[in-house]
Amino acid sequence: MIEVKHLTKKYGRHLALDDLYFTVEKGQIYGFLGPNGAGKSTTMNIMTGYISATDGEVLIDGCSILEEPEKAKKCIGYLPEIPPLYLDMTVMEYLNFVAELKKIPKDRRLAEVKKARNLVKLSDVSNRLIRNLSKGYRQRTGLAAAVLGFPDIIILDEPTVGLDPKQIIEIRELIRTLAKDHTVILSSHILAEVQEICDYVLIISKGRLAASGTPEELEKLSQGKESIELTIKANKETIQTILDKISGIQNITWQNETNDACDILIETSDLAQKVCEDISLSFATERIPVTKINILKATLEDIFLELTEGDSKNESNL
Ligand code: ADP
Ligand code: MG
Repeated sequence: MIEVKHLTKKYGRHLALDDLYFTVEKGQIYGFLGPNGAGKSTTMNIMTGYISATDGEVLIDGCSILEEPEKAKKCIGYLPEIPPLYLDMTVMEYLNFVAELKKIPKDRRLAEVKKARNLVKLSDVSNRLIRNLSKGYRQRTGLAAAVLGFPDIIILDEPTVGLDPKQIIEIRELIRTLAKDHTVILSSHILAEVQEICDYVLIISKGRLAASGTPEELEKLSQGKESIELTIKANKETIQTILDKISGIQNITWQNETNDACDILIETSDLAQKVCEDISLSFATERIPVTKINILKATLEDIFLELTEGDSKNESNL
């Protein structure tokens, strides 16, 4: 449905996107996850035809956004990071204006505007000036503008930034509702948010795709990097001799050692569960008590941090 091919964007000498490549299939919620400065907004601005790429192309249902912008843009509703709201218009005036820009036929305009307005629960403030709305209501106005006409693809750049927890929950629910019959792409620098609402995650780091997959698939990337915490009632030498006979152990960190007991952390190259079983059996055979045994799984957060390491440092250096 959307193909992003070899996208490169240079701002002067600064390379913001570096050969970014991915595809988006119909009917799911996609999340662009990356720290500030990773290139999320730049990617979205190019995908929606707001800015041009230095190199590469974006195809929407096979149409190039560059060569057939009108056609491609018709399929997309976009909520930019800073929505271009006209503060001196009322909510209804603004939505009517957007409907006109989107070339929604006059006889359907009012009905479409009302549909979008009701969906994002803006009815109460229909006739208020946007200038006088709270951040949450302004964000919803931007969202109503994005969904107006109900295009197939809805792209939302950091839709929950600056909102309070209640507003965040409301916007997330709205995104889920939209996803029932639209493809939604949203960006966020908050891992928990993406993990909670997205079916598929694209981790962007320094303008490149660092990893992609369902949240569960990304968590699995860490398998084999699991570690095991242990407390064993024996001295270091005895423990080491027994561990030497067990396969799948990559690294041992001695955290606390006395003559009676040791706390250790083991990194495994094999599945940690199997190594755990081997360890407990081996020490049991020698009649040595293992008083603590615990598998520490790397979380999506660990992977995110590992993949995007050094990113925000770059940003602050600019
Ligand atoms: P994100 O949305 O992931 O925070 P952006 O796409 O906004 O990242 O920015 C990517 C990089 O490009 C950053 O280093 C940012 O400073 C730079 N950048 C973005 N827009 C411009 C611009 N108009 N001019 C110069 N540099 C820019
Ligand atoms: Mg951004």
